[in-house]
Amino acid sequence: MSSVLSIQQLSKSYGPVKALNHISFEVPEGSVFGVLGPNGSGKTTLLGILLDVLLADRGDFQWFGGMPHQAARKQIGALLETPNFYHYLSAVQNLKINTSIKEKGTDDIDRVLQLVRLAPRKHARFNTYSLGMKQRLAIGNALLGGPKVLLLDEPTNGLDPEGIAEIRALIKSLNKEGITIIMASHLLDEVEKVCTHVAVLKQGHLLGSGPVKEVFQSEDILEVGSADNDTLKAVLSGLEGVVVHQAEDLLQVSMNGALDAAMINEYCYKNGITLTYLNLKRKSLEAQFMELTRTDDSQLR
Ligand code: ATP
Repeated sequence: MSSVLSIQQLSKSYGPVKALNHISFEVPEGSVFGVLGPNGSGKTTLLGILLDVLLADRGDFQWFGGMPHQAARKQIGALLETPNFYHYLSAVQNLKINTSIKEKGTDDIDRVLQLVRLAPRKHARFNTYSLGMKQRLAIGNALLGGPKVLLLDEPTNGLDPEGIAEIRALIKSLNKEGITIIMASHLLDEVEKVCTHVAVLKQGHLLGSGPVKEVFQSEDILEVGSADNDTLKAVLSGLEGVVVHQAEDLLQVSMNGALDAAMINEYCYKNGITLTYLNLKRKSLEAQFMELTRTDDSQLR
């Protein structure tokens, strides 16, 4: 898979606030790429830089293997803020106004309305649309001119459940049409449902990137207990490759790939401890994301 976008060491500060710190990742062609992070993690700043709306302090990025930015921009449709549509005009009339502002032909309007599944309502007034339909029109507007890449900033924000489902389905169907999608989101669940790839940001730092399944790979967690958990904890803490957490009356042991439950059991036995409880658990994706974004702040900056 070749990359539509390659980012190296992008940094951006607003005065004392480091919005982005040495961010590097690649967006594969044909992917739905999620930029996942809590509020204030730098997602919008990153998208702004990629669209040349903001200037990075440091670092570089290339669209389509190094195409000049002006030419590349024509291949990118973007929805950073909801466009102002006229409430008393139809979808077709609104898109006609936008094509004339953007100096694009009107011959693409029907294709785009078909893509965003608004063709049957294209002559209805904007103010009769549901929230999901309004957002679909905004995405349609970004698709005018047939871009290869679509950039969306929190595309389901503010929508009702029906609207959210509509937009997620639309993103998948546009991707099937061959459009690479880059979308910012603060919702793990959304990224898991919609995206093939992800970059996780926290306070401007990249915590990980790659295929969703790899980034949120299941990690084995072992729950153990014994008659004396304090001694058990001390013994296990001496074993290389494990991290031990107290979880109520049990201990939770995160292990690296070289260890398994049998080895932990044997190690405890050899150190004079009989385990009264041993249970292998897989960590949920959500727990891992919470952990990723809860990284000790002192490790950042
Ligand atoms: P949100 O989802 O809340 O928009 P985000 O992940 O998109 O968050 P950014 O909007 O890029 O994050 O903000 C990153 C950091 O930079 C935040 O601390 C924010 O307060 C700060 N910031 C963003 N824009 C500006 C600005 N124009 N001036 C000063 N600080 C800014």
